Amino acid sequence: MQTSKRHVTRMAAVSLTVVSVAALALPLSTDTGASALHWAYAGEAGPSHWASLDPGFSACGVGMAQSPIDLESHDAKPGKSGEFHIDYEKGNVDLVNNGHTVQANVSDARDTVVYNGDTYRLAQFHFHSPSEHTTDKTRFPLEIHFVNQDGAKHILVVGVMVKLGDENPALAPVFQSLPPPRGNASATAGKPIALDLSSVLPRNREAYVYSGSLTTPPCTEGVRWIVLAHPIQMSKGQVASFSKMFPDNHRPLQKVHGREVDDDPD
Ligand SMILES: [Zn+2]
Repeated sequence: MQTSKRHVTRMAAVSLTVVSVAALALPLSTDTGASALHWAYAGEAGPSHWASLDPGFSACGVGMAQSPIDLESHDAKPGKSGEFHIDYEKGNVDLVNNGHTVQANVSDARDTVVYNGDTYRLAQFHFHSPSEHTTDKTRFPLEIHFVNQDGAKHILVVGVMVKLGDENPALAPVFQSLPPPRGNASATAGKPIALDLSSVLPRNREAYVYSGSLTTPPCTEGVRWIVLAHPIQMSKGQVASFSKMFPDNHRPLQKVHGREVDDDPD
């Protein structure tokens, strides 16, 4: 079913037979979490040790529906059900460097995703370099996570892959103003950045949809993932402006653990 021609979403439905549907009170941010505990992407506080850093991080070790995962293009079935509609608009964002990534906080309530009749509002977006999800084992230089939350605090994340190419004018205001890290404290760029989010996402909304988790501690499950299949472009210089600050802030691929890829989202 399509709500209108303009809202057509051609998507691949990657649905999982083992799905956590518990109503979870998740933190608004996937990258700051509820805890100030130190965690990292390498070394003794790296991903393989996250679960042992705090009892609240146990899902990072024992969870059976963790993210990210490899997404396989042969499962892409354009036009299949499981419709969603993303409506992001022009507005202001506040940039924060939280030590794990650069995050753009969004306060405009007009930015929404409708999935299965439920409305999620965009809270923030942030970057991972290199990408966390892979498609057919291919890793991209950058992945953007748009974190949305509904009234019951369910999380829906829209993942957008970035490949090297032309300079991205829509994201230029962000990549010209990336705030530097300041020790362990969050550092902000100081003033709101004006962005046109409507022109950031790829026009083709074919996507992989599956149930997974936050990719940072506490790795909470019950997160609805919509990973768009078509990458957007950014210039080498734009990607480098982020990756020189965060050379590697990706969590390794997680086991699928019996979750089966299916073309029926429910
Ligand atoms: Zn993320």
